[in-house]
Amino acid sequence: MRIVGSLVQAYQICPRQAWLMSRQICPDEDNVYLQLGRLIGAQSFGRERKEVRLEHLCIDLVRRGGRDFVIGEVKKSSRAREAARMQLAFYLYELREMGMEAEGELLFPEERRRERVVLDESLARQVEELKARILALIAQDQAPLPEKIRFCGKCAYAEFCWA
Ligand code: SF4
Repeated sequence: MRIVGSLVQAYQICPRQAWLMSRQICPDEDNVYLQLGRLIGAQSFGRERKEVRLEHLCIDLVRRGGRDFVIGEVKKSSRAREAARMQLAFYLYELREMGMEAEGELLFPEERRRERVVLDESLARQVEELKARILALIAQDQAPLPEKIRFCGKCAYAEFCWA
């Protein structure tokens, strides 16, 4: 199975969430936070927004600048900032593997914040380690057991884990 950005983000938040996603177990589509996130993603940065699908990558926004270009990842809040940062780093890494050098921008429109992400060698190594850990996780037959964490309350799998 090929690793995608949403899996990278999910793994950083909760390995169980990533495992469930890897098995195409659909989250609760009526989850209000899931809907809110999609709405903010769809409405933000109207003029510069240009979602791009490139092989297994689905990038929220692409614009000129940086090295070859700048890619953006839009999030509804910075609550899971580190997970979002690693998702963006993963995109930068995969683009580099395809021969494209880009810079990244994390975008939190509700908070009017932007954060630059540059793939240096240290971050690239972190991405490689992360990919290896994700591959090991999704090779497991069973999902990790649920653990109560601060993200459970807004997680679209909450009913699946805790009902
Ligand atoms: S509800 Fe909690 S334990 Fe279950 S997938 Fe979501 S974050 Fe993980």
